[in-house]
Amino acid sequence: MSAAGPPAVDNEGARPPGEGGAERRIGWGHTVSAAGPRAVDNEGARPLGGGGAERRIGGPSVTDYDVAIAGAGLVGLSVAPALVRAGLSVALIDRADVRMPDSPPAGEGWDTRMYAISPGSAAFLESIGAWRGLPADRIAAVETMRVEGDTGALLSFSAYELGERALAWIVEERTLRAELVRVAKAAGVAIHAPYALDALTWTPDAGTLHCADGTALTARLIIGADGLRSRVREAAGIAPVTRSYGQTAVVANFNCEHPHRGRAWQWFLDDGGVLAWLPLPGRRVSMVWSAPDREARELLALPPEDLAARVASCGRRAVGALESITPSAGFPLQLQKVPTMIAHRVALVGDAAHGVHPLAGQGVNLGFGDAEALAAVLRGRGPLTDPGAPLLLERFARRRAAPVLAMQTVTDTLARLFGATSPWIRAARNFGMTVLDGLPPARRFLAHSALR
Ligand SMILES: Cc1cc2nc3c(=O)[nH]c(=O)nc-3n(C[C@H](O)[C@H](O)[C@H](O)COP(=O)(O)OP(=O)(O)OC[C@H]3O[C@@H](n4cnc5c(N)ncnc54)[C@H](O)[C@@H]3O)c2cc1C
Repeated sequence: MSAAGPPAVDNEGARPPGEGGAERRIGWGHTVSAAGPRAVDNEGARPLGGGGAERRIGGPSVTDYDVAIAGAGLVGLSVAPALVRAGLSVALIDRADVRMPDSPPAGEGWDTRMYAISPGSAAFLESIGAWRGLPADRIAAVETMRVEGDTGALLSFSAYELGERALAWIVEERTLRAELVRVAKAAGVAIHAPYALDALTWTPDAGTLHCADGTALTARLIIGADGLRSRVREAAGIAPVTRSYGQTAVVANFNCEHPHRGRAWQWFLDDGGVLAWLPLPGRRVSMVWSAPDREARELLALPPEDLAARVASCGRRAVGALESITPSAGFPLQLQKVPTMIAHRVALVGDAAHGVHPLAGQGVNLGFGDAEALAAVLRGRGPLTDPGAPLLLERFARRRAAPVLAMQTVTDTLARLFGATSPWIRAARNFGMTVLDGLPPARRFLAHSALR
């Protein structure tokens, strides 16, 4: 094992050479200890439902699990109960509090963050019990979608044509999060929050998450679900390649004058920006405007009425006038690729494993795909009792390589193609859209890839 972190897993064996079970602290400048994990206070760190086991190593006690997950975002929260169903004891930590907010949220307010959840992700959430309980009046179905190029080319999709109930489901972050927290707690996942991950150490047989307050969780598999700036990834020595798009996604939600009839819109703009409207329940739409950074700063500084007027006009008043119902928020956009999703006793899922442009609304869907694949591999582990066995991690990485690469390639190509200002490229991309629209089988193929 190098000082920079454990090596990427290979099938030759799980043991880093020459370490003989001694523990090393890796990353964030901590000292190496051969004496085992330091003393931890396990109060408040007890596994719920008898999931983990306490042990003593030369005095101090540590809580053991089969799997410890860093990061209770939507992806970490979904993989945890899926792994309990695979017969594993699971702990989950997050630096932020993990609570169930009111569900359905009290009052009339709407969350600024909305997600387009693909039918494939909805089926996965259903399989872990986190879909059916979502309040129907906080979800909208995308039944049709209209995509416009910057010189008027058109591309359209319809759920009916594809034999689907919806192209996607639009769900509030807080509503989905509340349901996932409920499911994780009911499954017996040991949730330790708010605990900020401070360091990771490995022995040949386990990894240990050390939290800033001294809590330590040891597990045979550590899952990094801790987002784009993953500390687990860094400690595992996996260096991402990151490229900024020079764009910031501005999100906000609006009441609209005319009904949207379950339609989503996307406009590729001539400055390389992408404006998307997604239907919300009632006469409301959710906006994601991926705008060049400078324009995004202007949009974020606008008073709500001016922002609503600008968004309505940029979307050609497709649903009439707009009225802001949430504050706006901005997210800088970048492509992030990692050379591997696995390392010694480590698997990465969600944004820790891949960052994509939101123009296809697929980031969290990719993450749910990771969660589903990892749970399926660990459920089918057969005689292997060790969830961190290299063979299993390799199997997970192989399953995810193609879908992740495909989504990164499609979103990145579209973002670059529509970011180019050359008149030839403009003409070609709009021509391409028109041709695609006239080829139903090609359109269906494209749409089916996004439904998974
Ligand atoms: C504007 C915008 C719109 C989008 N729309 C869509 C969409 O419609 N559909 C879609 O599929 N995707 C969409 N995405 C992508 C989606 O937001 C992400 O892919 C998704 O949120 C990633 O979830 P995650 O759980 O992997 O990571 P995160 O949501 O980043 O969660 C990481 C968690 O780890 C915790 N954490 C981090 N560091 C530490 C630490 N050191 N110690 C302890 N805890 C830690 C954090 O507190 C957090 O809870 C969109 C993205 C943007 C920017």
